[in-house]
Amino acid sequence: MNIKTRSWAEPYKMKMVELLKMTTKPQRIKAIKEAGFNTFLLKSEDVYIDLLTDSGTNSMSDRQWGALMIGDEAYAGSKSYYKMESAIQKNYGYKYIIPTHQGRAAENILSKILIKKGDIVPGNMYFTTTRLHQELAGGTFEDIIIDEAHDPSNEHPFKGNVDLAKLEKLVKKYGAKKIAYISLATNVNLAGGQPISMANLKELRAYTKKHQIRIIHDMTRVAENAYFIQQREKDYEKKSIREIVFEICSLTDGATMSAKKDALVNIGGFMATNEWDVFEEARNLVVVYEGLHTYGGLAGRDMEAIALGIAESLDDNHQHARVGQVEYLGKKMQDYGIPIVKPIGGHGIFVDARAMLPHLTQDEFPAQTLAAEIFIDSGVRTMERGIVSAGRKSNGKNYYPPLELVRFTIPRRVYTQAHMDVIAESAAAVYQRRKTIKGLKMIYEPKYLRFFQAKFEKLK
Ligand SMILES: *Cc1c(COP(=O)(O)O)cnc(C)c1O
Repeated sequence: MNIKTRSWAEPYKMKMVELLKMTTKPQRIKAIKEAGFNTFLLKSEDVYIDLLTDSGTNSMSDRQWGALMIGDEAYAGSKSYYKMESAIQKNYGYKYIIPTHQGRAAENILSKILIKKGDIVPGNMYFTTTRLHQELAGGTFEDIIIDEAHDPSNEHPFKGNVDLAKLEKLVKKYGAKKIAYISLATNVNLAGGQPISMANLKELRAYTKKHQIRIIHDMTRVAENAYFIQQREKDYEKKSIREIVFEICSLTDGATMSAKKDALVNIGGFMATNEWDVFEEARNLVVVYEGLHTYGGLAGRDMEAIALGIAESLDDNHQHARVGQVEYLGKKMQDYGIPIVKPIGGHGIFVDARAMLPHLTQDEFPAQTLAAEIFIDSGVRTMERGIVSAGRKSNGKNYYPPLELVRFTIPRRVYTQAHMDVIAESAAAVYQRRKTIKGLKMIYEPKYLRFFQAKFEKLK
């Protein structure tokens, strides 16, 4: 038997379970109406399988839970801080670390330091909070991801790659001095959890070195990216996830991290840099926004859990089971004929709402609509990644993103294969009655990151 054809399975077993409330369809209809057809506004107790996000929803290991008890809650110089710092230095290779309460806090501090008013920030597809902090700091984000990333049916193995010609155009137009840094994400979230190749990153490093431009790494899902490099890229099949992650980080100058994703904890993040000057400034700013530089908004116990979570996330068997579960769900959905973003990404399945509900215009919020319908069908909570998430430009006009997706994000180490079956069957049931589904109208819109709190009404 070829080893590659054998099943993946979890390298862990359950020690404790959390009981879930089962609901009826009338209860779910009432709940989604009260939530203004926004799955972010549902109460979690009304949700059966929660695929809203993979952020902070991870199951911690028994070792991590044990470590909570030895957290050092000293205000300054906590032992737990030094454990976190050393886990980051050893596994990722960055020199200087600033802990933060989560990823966006690291983005806030870093953007304030590196972006001047009028600067350009090129990146491989935007992320909501990342771009907002870049804009609030006076920068303008420019998308330099390859065109294939915007095509949900294109099977390019590295849809997170940077198009160097797009970058070159920006450098020619504005001059390298106007480029604050390259905002480089691994396993690009909004492209559907799609990886960047090591070859592309090496080319980008060579180009940016020549023009003296920094690469700042959004390393929120770096381990999942490394898994795909190991599976798909020549010369990397024999390297461990740990080695590949280290190499990725070595090709960048600094990072922001939401530890709530890959690093297997429920809260936390950090900023990292290899430059002393940047670190000095960050150490000044973190006390304004987060807390002292040796805790940055985290409890000592959180830092203990992060230090262990980083190490656990780099285990090859963990990543195989993690991405294997996502692939299992995706293949099942494809078998039902449901249009999903291809290739299947690392942290979830992204259903192409435009392809599924072609009778709705983008202003009728196809992805928002679909997420609400899936909840009504089964109590599975998903989320919109389309026009609502994209928000408005600084001139007040809506962004019209090419992708209109519903994200089925899989929390790490939380659900079973039987849960995956229930999810796929629910998506299939909605798919079967797709032609009868009506769109939505927005009746309340918050100023920032509107997808979190916007409210909608069903169109008649
Ligand atoms: C979640 C996320 C962030 C922001 O991190 P938070 O911990 O939610 O503040 C930044 N970038 C990417 C790619 C993310 O997925």
